[in-house]
Amino acid sequence: MLTNLQTRDVETLIHPYTNLASFREAGPLVLENGKGVWVYDTDGKAYIEGMAGLWCTSLGYSNEELVETAREQMAKLPFTHIFGGKSHDPAIELAEKLKEIAPMPVSKVLFGASGSDANDTQVKLMWYYNNAIGRPQKKKIIARIKGYHGVTVASASLTGLPANHTDFDLPIKNILHTSCPHYYRFGKDGETEEEFATRCADELEELILREGPETVAAFIAEPVGGAGGVTTPPAGYYEKIQKVLDKYDVLFIADEVITGFGRLGTMFGSEAMGMRPDTMSCAKAITSAYFPVSAVMIPEKIYAAMVDESRKIGTFGHGNTYAGHPVGMALGVKTIEIYQRDNIIGHVQSLLPGFWKHLDTLRQHPLVGEVRGKGLVAGIELVADKATKRAFDAKKTVGAKATSLCQEEGLIVRNLADTVAVCPPLIIKQDEVDEMFAKLTRALDRLE
Ligand code: PLP
Repeated sequence: MLTNLQTRDVETLIHPYTNLASFREAGPLVLENGKGVWVYDTDGKAYIEGMAGLWCTSLGYSNEELVETAREQMAKLPFTHIFGGKSHDPAIELAEKLKEIAPMPVSKVLFGASGSDANDTQVKLMWYYNNAIGRPQKKKIIARIKGYHGVTVASASLTGLPANHTDFDLPIKNILHTSCPHYYRFGKDGETEEEFATRCADELEELILREGPETVAAFIAEPVGGAGGVTTPPAGYYEKIQKVLDKYDVLFIADEVITGFGRLGTMFGSEAMGMRPDTMSCAKAITSAYFPVSAVMIPEKIYAAMVDESRKIGTFGHGNTYAGHPVGMALGVKTIEIYQRDNIIGHVQSLLPGFWKHLDTLRQHPLVGEVRGKGLVAGIELVADKATKRAFDAKKTVGAKATSLCQEEGLIVRNLADTVAVCPPLIIKQDEVDEMFAKLTRALDRLE
């Protein structure tokens, strides 16, 4: 029986990433408020937000400093754009901060409002850059199977998941996909992880050669895959990939939308994974998700080419209304200040032994095929047969059942098919980590 709010929801909203046919009966979980790692529904029931919303509320809920920062900026200058000849202090300050903490040399920062639009911008920039420097044929961008990069036409094309393509007439041309570096599912019998990493790099090289290196502009990857099932590449993978990219003059785009700002125990995932990206997309935890902000970090050689292009054709014809929104910028500055002042990365590192001890215990669970991840993000893959890695019949929707049992236990997690993802706010405390896994284990024990 749906409540009044649930009924009104079902009558009015389309929910993203939801089975629109079955949703009408179940109705939504309607949340009302939150504090720290806890959120509360309209009946006052408490849940640990074990997914930091959508991998994003790194500083938890109702952080008073962030609320006050937003309030102050709203009162002072709630909006101005940064098109043409306009700017404002928080945008300049946030760009400076990002340049300072980026794991690679960054010349300029281009703001947007979502991870999808950041990756869309990356695609456009790769095309623009290669046109600007007289390589109009070098346009193809290689993403990975099971990679997740967003939902706009270009970023959904980069995404390597069938649901993002089927019946949307995607991917668009010039976007290709190479192997997913997930050993548990794609490693061959008898192949070591090292051999698997080598094969992934070889497959990338074969694709580049097949297409013609003069047509391949860039490769995009999340340091650790998120929405595709929390896929962690084997050790040495990025080193091997980097060699291939260097050999064929292919730029490396790091999609740090989830892994940026401490998630893997380093400020950026590229550092944790030994990546050497040329450009980077960030969003989500840049403001602890208190405001939609994304940032594309651009190296000098691309920026210089963009300036040359302006000399030739005039205006750089890109940018959206909310790019550099003052409230988002002020929140970004404050969020990074808190990360640094409160040593949030040190806090994450201090949690890791306890967090992973619980995950190691879960590996023994009869329904758990693999536990993977890095830092404070993990995927727990449920299987019908541990020995053979046989997956459950998709119709049994075991992952969705696990998520719903977690909800009953007072824990919000997210299932990516039959992988249950855990990605709590970075400010979680050890006793809350313990409680989160106690709830998760109870839920898994109740699965049939
Ligand atoms: N890239 C990655 C790695 C993501 O995880 C996401 C969203 O989850 C996106 C891009 C898209 O970001 P948004 O949902 O803000 O458009």
